[in-house]
Amino acid sequence: MAPSWAREIVRGECGAAGVAEPAMRWRHARRSASSGVTRRSAGSISVTAGTDPLDQRLTLLHELAHWLGPVPRRRRGRAQHHDARFYAIAFDLYRRHEIPDPEILAREGGRYPSALRHARALGIAGADAAWLSRRVALRELARNRVPARVLVAEHKVRLVRDGRWTRCAICGVRVVGPILARLRRRGGRHVLLSAG
Ligand SMILES: [Zn+2]
Ligand SMILES: [Zn+2]
Repeated sequence: MAPSWAREIVRGECGAAGVAEPAMRWRHARRSASSGVTRRSAGSISVTAGTDPLDQRLTLLHELAHWLGPVPRRRRGRAQHHDARFYAIAFDLYRRHEIPDPEILAREGGRYPSALRHARALGIAGADAAWLSRRVALRELARNRVPARVLVAEHKVRLVRDGRWTRCAICGVRVVGPILARLRRRGGRHVLLSAG
């Protein structure tokens, strides 16, 4: 059973919005973070509550935003669960239920990086800075990524025995299992890349 503070939030928010209350499923996990899922068709919100009280509250409010919000739009066949309409409701719930802005940015932004873009648009304090520092970090990552180098140019595989193993005579790669069976049947081509 959901704790009383959680039931109070759900009752209050659903009442204010004129929306039926979901069936609540609540269980505990030993980890710090919480997780949740909202099933409109089943009329339920399920929360797996971790040990961190703030994360429990944020997770409940996140799921409640799914419950109270409009049915997600579809784009290219995929439902947009965390779009601008969702975050307008979610951030409002977070703030009214006393999740501090820096915690909103760190936690929601950590799970869903696109949340930072919506937080900026909605004027959450610190969102500009969080969004910028994430962009800088991404650019840094991209700069440090070593491009894969071609170690052995593309070639036709030539299988040779090497003791118990079979290798490609050109690049030396060991070939096993289904790939070996396929190469034996139909042959194939290889290119050997560095891990990068
Ligand atoms: Zn969600
Ligand atoms: Zn090869």
